Order: sequence, then C-alpha cells, then structure tokens
Amino acid sequence: MPIKLPSFRPRKDAYPPDLWTRCPGCSEMLFNKQLDKANRVCPSCNHHFRLSAAARLEVLLDPGSFRELDAGLQSVDPLGFVDQKAYPDRVTAAQVATGMRDAAIRGIGAIEGTTVSICVMDFGFMGGSMGAVVGEKVTRAAEDATSGRMPLIVVSASGGARMQEGTLALMQLAKTVAAVERLRAAGLPFISLMTDPTTGGVFASYAVLGDVNLAEPNALIGFAGARVSAGTIAQELPPGFQRTEFLFSHGFVDRIVQRAEARAEIAALLRFLVPAPAGAEGADEGGPTLFRPMSFLSSLADRMIGEPDPVPAAGTGQSEESPRG
Ligand SMILES: [Zn+2]
Repeated sequence: MPIKLPSFRPRKDAYPPDLWTRCPGCSEMLFNKQLDKANRVCPSCNHHFRLSAAARLEVLLDPGSFRELDAGLQSVDPLGFVDQKAYPDRVTAAQVATGMRDAAIRGIGAIEGTTVSICVMDFGFMGGSMGAVVGEKVTRAAEDATSGRMPLIVVSASGGARMQEGTLALMQLAKTVAAVERLRAAGLPFISLMTDPTTGGVFASYAVLGDVNLAEPNALIGFAGARVSAGTIAQELPPGFQRTEFLFSHGFVDRIVQRAEARAEIAALLRFLVPAPAGAEGADEGGPTLFRPMSFLSSLADRMIGEPDPVPAAGTGQSEESPRG
C-alpha cells in the first residue's frame, strides 16, 4: 500500500487571496467587493487605489453614453525589441491579463449631458506606457474633439513612454502635443485628470497641458523618479515631493479632486469652459504662446527646487525702481 503523503494543495474552502486587499494607506484589510463598490477608494483613509480604464469610464461618464472608437488599434513590433521577453509576448500577456488591446481606451461619451471626446489610460497594461497606440488614441481623441467641436477629457495613468517602442514612443510626445495645440487654437476646452501615477513622457506631454489640470489625491506625478531628481540637483527632496498635494501647492495642479466627485467637478468645469463658436479660430492670437517643451522642463526644474532664484528677483526690483528714483 503506497504511503499517503500530506497534500500541500490549498484547501478549496480557504479564502482566495484576491478576496481582500490591504490598504497601503492605513493597513486595514478591505473586502474587495466593497472596495469595488466604493470605486476603489479606502473608506477609512481615503487612499485612492488605481482604477482600470473600464471602471474609470463608468465613474466619469453618464451610464450607457460611451461609444468606443479605434478599439482594434494594436501595437506592432517595428524594432524587433527583446529584453527578458520579446515585446510581442509582453503585449500578448498584458492583453490576456487586462482584456484590453493596449493601455488606453478612447471614444465619445457624455458627462452630465455634455458630449465629450474622452481617452482614459490603464496602468494595468504594461504600466500604462505610451507607445504608438496610446499616442495615436490621445491624438485622435483630440482631433475628434476639434472636428466635432466638443471638449477633450484625458485621464492619465502611466509610467511614461514605452521603451520597447524606442524613438517611436518618444515621437508620441510631439504628436499628442501638436494635436492638443490645434484643439486649443480652435478654442475648445481640454481637461486633464492625472491619477496615480502620471510620470515620464506622459507628464512631459499632454497630461499637464489641460486648460484645467486635475489630479486625484496623493497621486505620484512627476517627470523623472525621485532618486534621479535628487541626484540631478544634488539636494535632498522636500517631503511629499511629486505627490498631488505638493504639486497643487506649487501651482502645477489646479485642483485636487476626490474620485467620487470627479464627474460632478468636470461637469461643472464644462459648464464654464464652453467651446468657442465655429469659425472663431485665430481669435486668440494674443493668447498664450506655443508650448515649448525645453523651457517647460527648465521652469519645472526651477520650481521643483523650491525658492525662486534671488538674483533675478533683486534685479527686477531694481529695474522697476530706477526710473522712479
Ligand atoms: Zn486605507
């Protein structure tokens, strides 16, 4: 008679690990079903968990109003990129895990009755990285908003450009910014909602170019990682660096929005930011100058260090006073 060995398989009645989530904010164990019901916001400490693109659309849009566009767009592998895995294998694995074709969904929907062109990103798909597909979806969302004369809403959740697409991923920065600039020139509103995390090439392109830049509480928002930033400026970083509240207090974020209030807040903004009537293009020639990425990044670095440079400030004061004196 064979020896009966103890079984190490998990008992069927044991709690599956995906039933509970530990909140990183307050360490409380949260029941996943309840967490989903609360749109993945911790009821005890208000920690905003990451949200899938599908759930995000449900939170923001009027029920049943969303019509997806470009659902079939899919990455190719123009560089034949291989790291530990071949790039197409990574894409396939992400597709199986998320049920999405790439890291963004775009389409037309309504927010409290206002029709909008919307693109939402999903961090669950390869870190929400922006390759040609994400860039193209953001661009087309902006172009549809321009041609259909409706507001553009983009919800970012991304680690930045997708390194497996190399230069083609970096080109998306210029492409998306150009589309957003055409939207601005046409007098149409763009509301950007940054969620945890919005970093790298996405932060350095369209995510901070909204007429109103919104952000969820305590989201990681920034260009380079904290360690790289600290190394570059050879200084210790202030507490809360690259978090929503820090960026808000330094003027990079216009408003911090709770997830439960995001829809109502965006709807209220859209009642103020009415699209300019068609043919009014060029009326804003005296408006803000074109986006200049390099000066944007240097002013960003200046502001992140904190105190403004005392030398030019003193110089300005003197030049203002000297004509009078
Ligand atoms: Zn919590």
